[in-house]
Amino acid sequence: MNCQTAESMVNRYIEHDLSVDELEDFLEHVENCPSCYDELETYFIVHAAMQQLDEESRDSTLDLRELLEEDIRRSKHYILKMRFRRALSGMGFCALIAGLGGFLIYIIMQVL
Ligand SMILES: [Zn+2]
Repeated sequence: MNCQTAESMVNRYIEHDLSVDELEDFLEHVENCPSCYDELETYFIVHAAMQQLDEESRDSTLDLRELLEEDIRRSKHYILKMRFRRALSGMGFCALIAGLGGFLIYIIMQVL
């Protein structure tokens, strides 16, 4: 992924609107690219600050920088969870095909 693509995804990251694959590529890029990380951090802090205003939260001592790190941690956890879920459903599909195949072989053996 290049910086232009990453920058175009910043907003969607903040809105949690990226697919798992996009999210993984995006996080990989920002973690290795200080300028994109800065860009993301700026947007994220502005977004979080506006949300705090909306909610009239009195918890203004909250460290916004830590908030982004926390969000990235949560995003990675989400990627792992989705990958695991996809692997499980892939395995389920294989088991289904294997079961069907076995059943077909069983039928054919009965007929012959
Ligand atoms: Zn970059």
